[in-house]
Amino acid sequence: MYDLFKTDFLTVTRENEWHLEPFEVEHSDYNISVWDSGVMHIEPKQVSEVERCYVFSSAVHGNETAPIEICNEIITQVLSKKIRITQPALFIFGNPASINIGQRFVEENMNRLFSGHHSKPKTDSNGFRNKECERAAKLEEYVTRFFESYPGWHRTHYDLHTAIRDSAHEKFAVYPFLHGKKWSKEQFEILRAMGVTTFLLMEKPATTFSYYSAREHGAEAFTVELGKVRPFGQNDQSKFAAAKQTLIELLQGKVFDGSQFDQANYQIMTVFREINKKDDSFELCFSDDAANFTLYKKGDVIAKENGQDIVVEAEEEAIVFPNANVAIGQRALLMVVPKDITNDVE
Ligand SMILES: [Zn+2]
Repeated sequence: MYDLFKTDFLTVTRENEWHLEPFEVEHSDYNISVWDSGVMHIEPKQVSEVERCYVFSSAVHGNETAPIEICNEIITQVLSKKIRITQPALFIFGNPASINIGQRFVEENMNRLFSGHHSKPKTDSNGFRNKECERAAKLEEYVTRFFESYPGWHRTHYDLHTAIRDSAHEKFAVYPFLHGKKWSKEQFEILRAMGVTTFLLMEKPATTFSYYSAREHGAEAFTVELGKVRPFGQNDQSKFAAAKQTLIELLQGKVFDGSQFDQANYQIMTVFREINKKDDSFELCFSDDAANFTLYKKGDVIAKENGQDIVVEAEEEAIVFPNANVAIGQRALLMVVPKDITNDVE
């Protein structure tokens, strides 16, 4: 049993990498339950009239420290009554063991494991290849339990990250594939309040935590990239102030006005194509520090494989998430192009 008024939740999480017995925290204003290591449910005792509930996850990649610090601070401020919230929240530190080693993951990138991919293929008697697979399966259960506690409520899940490389647009959000549903004007406005104006709209299902919540639970869900990866204590807090403030306001019942949406305030991109690594000879033809969303022009060579050039096909394409060190068959980069969504938002 831990005293979370003496030891903050992140510290407790880091001391229990893969498992923590559930316990309750006594509090005058909230029902607070720790469901597992890094998983805390906070429910205001006074039920809100705003029927909205929130999942804020961080540390799905353990070295992406800024969102971990933000979430831990919000939890600490709520517990100590520095701030008062009205909406139920589930906080998740996704991969505590990877936080402790300061790495993106221990054995396997958790954002490739959701929507059941943790159990395909099964390789041990528990049905999991490794602890990250088991953890991803448990996180799905916790998100399900949380959302099902508030039937009919509006559901939101922000999976908070920082990017490995610089970005021409420092903050950006990945909007999971909605299977034909319209994009949400209100969500664009909420994320703009967080400082996020660049969006990457996905065109097909994914293995990410945000796609899982959108698809399985009908949540408004996003992978939100808040800046660049840095070690704990080296994050410039001023760069994250707007994001933190907006997350707090949502937990305080703020509803944003989607009618203010104007596409001119955003850079909205969609995936033009995915380039997969097919051979060990695959190499990228731009520098290692090229920023996400850097634009290239038709004919520019962006990669080489087996002596063949891979060139830009559209008038302009931007690179996102380049990584030549993936396994053969996996995605080495995304090429994206601007998209007009005027008729596809509501
Ligand atoms: Zn990440």
